[in-house]
Amino acid sequence: MSTEEMRERLKNGGRVSAQEALWLWKNASDERLRELAQVVRSRFHEPEACTYMLMRIINYTNVCVAQCDYCAFYTLPGAADGYVLSKQQVFAKIDELIDLGGDLVGFNGGFNPQLTLEYYCDLFHAVRERYQDRIEFYALTIAEFMYLADHGKLDYVRTAQRLKDAGVRWVTGGGSEILTEDFRQRHSKFKYTVAQYFEAQRALVETGLKTSATMVIGFDETIEERIEHLERTRQFQDEVGGLGSFLCWTFKPYFTPLGDALGQIEISTSEYLRHLALSRIYLDNVPRIRTSVLTQNERALEGLLYGADDFDLPIEDEVTQKAGATISLQFDRILGFARSLGYQPVYRSMALKRTAPLPVT
Ligand code: SF4
Repeated sequence: MSTEEMRERLKNGGRVSAQEALWLWKNASDERLRELAQVVRSRFHEPEACTYMLMRIINYTNVCVAQCDYCAFYTLPGAADGYVLSKQQVFAKIDELIDLGGDLVGFNGGFNPQLTLEYYCDLFHAVRERYQDRIEFYALTIAEFMYLADHGKLDYVRTAQRLKDAGVRWVTGGGSEILTEDFRQRHSKFKYTVAQYFEAQRALVETGLKTSATMVIGFDETIEERIEHLERTRQFQDEVGGLGSFLCWTFKPYFTPLGDALGQIEISTSEYLRHLALSRIYLDNVPRIRTSVLTQNERALEGLLYGADDFDLPIEDEVTQKAGATISLQFDRILGFARSLGYQPVYRSMALKRTAPLPVT
């Protein structure tokens, strides 16, 4: 096995196997990984091109019954600090985002047994009615989507169709962390099984909703588990398609039971960057590989050198902030860092009819 041979193969449109990915992880230098990642990146993007979005996650409820041990955000039903945001609170958050120049909202909360499909349809219908095509939003992560369907005793296709009828166009693949059954049993056994996850992804694609792939690293997962996650994602894309992008971020361990058990240690940025490169090399059928400013701050932009081509500038995400993530609103500085690395960041608007001023460039 040699990186030179792999480079030639990738240049000719070939791909690497799971075994080769493992070998690369263990043996390839940073420079070699970057080089291979750039070969696959160049199939989709010009060398200096990259895009970004200004967005906010709206954490509409923190009540959750899933009890993942890596979570610092949730509270159980009946707890005094549980909340559900009102429509007015949601609108105020969206208005603030628009004022800052953003146009993408992500709804992400907990598995709240009090909230029915009717609640969600009503909320998303109200958001679509008020903002029309001036913003885009992803309504829930796929994890919440599955809970909603299961809790309401509906199948995934019918649930997806109901959301679509309410004005939803997009559900993210968020909440996937590491997609191995073993990982799910270790840390998140009430959330979903891997088989359910991909069944739900398929239902979203078949209903005509947009979806995406995500991943979180830095728990106690093995390298083999990371590669299994990538393999399952690539396989799904080969068979079903519909994954427009892949976003990987890193576990923030603070104030979480798992973080306590692991000694509150975050993985290094260099490990994250190597993983981004491996993801770009392996996920040769996903056009957009995104790097996480939310968990890596401006150093995430180095991910562009490792094969990424897109990033968010988030203004809020309580889930990761509660576990230690810090958010900067100094967009100029962050974008300037991308430019200093030789990239030309261009705003990527998800809204069909953008009216908000473009953010700083
Ligand atoms: S990660 Fe999500 S599903 Fe898991 S406990 Fe936290 S809010 Fe609930």
